[in-house]
Amino acid sequence: MKNSLNKYDVLIIGAGVSGLFMSYRLKSMGLSVLVLEKADQLGGTWNWNRYPGARCDIPSLEYSYQFDEDLQQDWNWSEKYSAGTEILEYLKHVADRFDLKEGINFEEEVVQAKYDEENTLWSVKTSKSEYESKFCIFATGCLSVPNKPNIKGIESFEGEVLQTASWPREKIDFSGKNVAIIGTGSSSIQTIPEIAKDVKNLYVFQRTPNYSIPSNNGPMDTEVEKNVKSRYSEFRKENYLNGFGIASDSGEAFISESDLEEVNSQLEENWNSSGLGFFGGYADIPVDVSSNEVAASFVRNKIKEVVKDPETAEKLCPEYHIGGKRLCVDTGYFETFNKDNVHLIDINQDPISQVGAETIEANETYQIDILILATGFDAMTGALTSLDILGRNEINLKDQWKEGAKSYLGLGVTNFPNLFTITGPGSPSVLSNMMPSIEQHVNWIADCIGWMSENNKSVIESTETAEDEWMQLVNEIADTTIFTSTKSWYNGSNIEGKAKSFLPFIGVPAYTEKLEEITAADYQGFVFDKSN
Ligand code: NAP
Repeated sequence: MKNSLNKYDVLIIGAGVSGLFMSYRLKSMGLSVLVLEKADQLGGTWNWNRYPGARCDIPSLEYSYQFDEDLQQDWNWSEKYSAGTEILEYLKHVADRFDLKEGINFEEEVVQAKYDEENTLWSVKTSKSEYESKFCIFATGCLSVPNKPNIKGIESFEGEVLQTASWPREKIDFSGKNVAIIGTGSSSIQTIPEIAKDVKNLYVFQRTPNYSIPSNNGPMDTEVEKNVKSRYSEFRKENYLNGFGIASDSGEAFISESDLEEVNSQLEENWNSSGLGFFGGYADIPVDVSSNEVAASFVRNKIKEVVKDPETAEKLCPEYHIGGKRLCVDTGYFETFNKDNVHLIDINQDPISQVGAETIEANETYQIDILILATGFDAMTGALTSLDILGRNEINLKDQWKEGAKSYLGLGVTNFPNLFTITGPGSPSVLSNMMPSIEQHVNWIADCIGWMSENNKSVIESTETAEDEWMQLVNEIADTTIFTSTKSWYNGSNIEGKAKSFLPFIGVPAYTEKLEEITAADYQGFVFDKSN
């Protein structure tokens, strides 16, 4: 494409882990690329989620790029599980090292993307300007649009309101303050032990308790690091052959076929070492309700051992299938409820009736200085449906997805030619290690664009049939697991009015195989240069 001022081969929306690597790949192919980022700096998730205690619960040696051997050898992580601040530092290093900052426009929010069928171009309107491009790639993340709860009176609160998903950059002084936090998902479970250290009182408003496994985090074991670095690419390949694409997820035995005493001692070992891998520690935890209950009950007993007050412990014990909601990994979460200044309020028992200027009413009146919303995200689709993306015949993606998002492979959407999503609905994404899943998608998109150029193809679009069949497969697989019978953000249950459909593809190896098969068959399920 001839490049005039605002014309590019590719526009990439988002400068997080996906957008950065996508721009690297496409620039290396000689394409003109612009990245549009609404924040004032790069990093995506790791830029926005700056709350105290923010940390990745995938081990650092796995939660990192693998596209450049020198990069993965040179970078040293300080802890087994990296803090958000260190991951952000790493992403800035990557951007500097590969000269990626140049092509990013910061503080520029995309408000509309519209496909011009006649000229086969995307027109993109932002808060500052307008652009045209041949391809439009949404690298907007799966968990990037915060969920703002609809609680009576919340707008009248006169103290500080903070949201874990868009935390301010300046340090918040919690000392001597009465703080309330609403929500008890991964973000809250990470931040509660940190915030509890300084506050006068911390009131935790819980709607649904969560299962959480201790991280046993600590400084990076240099022997482990040395070993991994001596065989990094093999290590990555082995991990990606596991169901959820992480190293510790490798249990092949079934609880249902094992001796219960042995199971409990193995679960004890996994509790002490596996973090998220606890869920995959036995092959039938994700698929067999009775086996799942053995693991769930093990964790409930742990909670009751740790939390001294039996009533509080009982409230903290989840009843649903373990892993049905995203499993959490913590550093001293349950222990925090033994502190005298930490109070758990079960809002099923004592619903929040309203928020006042300085109070929260929930059976009792709580005096509050700071209110923290740890209420999650409009997951998987929010970043795509919160703006206007107009495809063929001006079909709006949010309307097309009203009854539930449909995508082919999580990469393409019918009626939206030359538009790609990175880790979109229908791909393993949030049920895998995001880093390699992102790299897989970025590489696929870049290779596809390269293939199109070599084969004189201008426009790619997935077919409705391929998409329907794909989403049917996603659901068929999900129906064999415990995931569909639990209310969670995986199936849209956390957002009022959102279609309830299960969106991630379960099983990294099966997905990878399908992707390779489809690609080898000249992108089966996609059509090229379809006439308008
Ligand atoms: P989340 O898991 O969706 O948790 C949100 C919490 O807010 C839930 O407890 C939810 O209750 C509650 N909630 C929502 N609306 C509410 C309302 N109106 N009133 C009362 N409670 C309400 O969100 P998150 O903790 O931000 O985590 C989201 C995901 O981000 C995680 O599952 C994980 O995948 C990712 N994450 C990862 C890490 C990491 O270490 N890698 C760290 C943080 C987050 P219900 O359960 O009843 O809906």
